Amino acid sequence: MKHKAIYPGSFDPITNGHIDIIQRGLAIFDEITIVIATNLRKNSAKSAWFTPDERKAMIKSIFRKEKRVNVDFCSGLMMDYAREHQVQCVLRGLRVASDFETEMMMATMNKELNPKVETVFMPTRKDLSFISSSILKEVASLGGDISEYVPAIVAKQIEKKVRGM
Ligand code: ADP
Repeated sequence: MKHKAIYPGSFDPITNGHIDIIQRGLAIFDEITIVIATNLRKNSAKSAWFTPDERKAMIKSIFRKEKRVNVDFCSGLMMDYAREHQVQCVLRGLRVASDFETEMMMATMNKELNPKVETVFMPTRKDLSFISSSILKEVASLGGDISEYVPAIVAKQIEKKVRGM
């Protein structure tokens, strides 16, 4: 049996922090599906810069040589997605202590929604612990250089968005 995991998130856009979790996750799982949550609320702190298709295109380009990584969308509950696709594990990254509280809450609720699915937490690499899509967007919009924290294709797309603002 193949060990499959979903790695859900906004990925708006994908960063080196996400990529590190996926690459390390591939040592544990046979297949990882990056599931882009498309239900981001407009005007929330996490309001989206990129359309789901733009986010997917960047991810696909980054993992074009990795056959064990797939990309998909989900507009509803991740636990329903897991049930429909017969996935047994959810992979999540843990950064600072504040992640722990929300991640525990989400993992506990997910267990209620679908008891067959386990959540696996992977600690961030120490030099990537302060990276989030939100902070990179904020820094970029104020003219800061974020190219060290994302693949070149993502840096280019961020620059394009900033120029269009
Ligand atoms: P969400 O909108 O659910 O927070 P994100 O796209 O921000 O989704 O992140 C998806 C997952 O990746 C989450 O589990 C998050 O904790 C993890 N993650 C994001 N950035 C990093 C990082 N720098 N190091 C490790 N994990 C990370």
